[in-house]
Amino acid sequence: MSASSSGRTAAFVAAQAEAHDASIVGATDDALTVELRLRRASGRRKTYRLTIDTRGLEPRVREAESEHLPRFCPNRHLSDDGWFCLNYSEEDPHPVHDTESATAFWGRLLKYLTLQETTTVLRRWPSTHDWAHGLAAGAQARAERAAAALGSAFSVALDRRRLKAVHQKGSPFILLLDGQRRLCSLWVDLRRVATLRQLCLCDSGRALACCGDHADQAAALTLALMDWERQEQRFWEYAKDRPCCGQLDVCPLKPSETQNPTDELAEAA
Ligand SMILES: [Zn+2]
Ligand SMILES: [Zn+2]
Repeated sequence: MSASSSGRTAAFVAAQAEAHDASIVGATDDALTVELRLRRASGRRKTYRLTIDTRGLEPRVREAESEHLPRFCPNRHLSDDGWFCLNYSEEDPHPVHDTESATAFWGRLLKYLTLQETTTVLRRWPSTHDWAHGLAAGAQARAERAAAALGSAFSVALDRRRLKAVHQKGSPFILLLDGQRRLCSLWVDLRRVATLRQLCLCDSGRALACCGDHADQAAALTLALMDWERQEQRFWEYAKDRPCCGQLDVCPLKPSETQNPTDELAEAA
């Protein structure tokens, strides 16, 4: 990234800081240091000292020092070295290149920190809407788009984690399930719905073959769900030797004997 585009990103971010309860307290060619006074539900303020890396078109943010947040916690959506996962930058980048995109950036950052504050209190990520980890986030975004194209019932089913893609080893088919109910099957090799004469998943009463792009969307949804699962597994495999920050009640990185919070309380007593 050239110095000039980095400078532009930084300038747009800096110009919107004060409007979002933040002050620029330091700047280099690569990064801004910011003091952000996060308003809490109680009305009190909590100061976060943040580093905003402006080398890319999409700013990256972390605490300047680990003060309120750990340096790594998958379930808090803190990636390596404490960088915040503000969105799915692989699939859905949010470059900052003008006032409007800078305002949106600050909005995402404030929302993210508010979620972190609630997480500290609840000891779990508060959003009912799960965020996938690592590269799985891209697959989640694709699944969401395909589900939305098939209708709101699919978005709801996806949000509630009812939709699953199942492939039994050796089978030529991948099944798309809603709970226990089979919605359709895909040819593994062709990555296409196997039975186009079946009724469309969207309840239009039409055959899947004649219901707009729904056959393609059903296939895209199934493949995205498969990929999501695979990437989540890969992510946890990669993260498994990392220490748990110990701040959440449920974390796959926790040693299993301390997974139950009541055990911890008993130990602490
Ligand atoms: Zn349809
Ligand atoms: Zn953690």
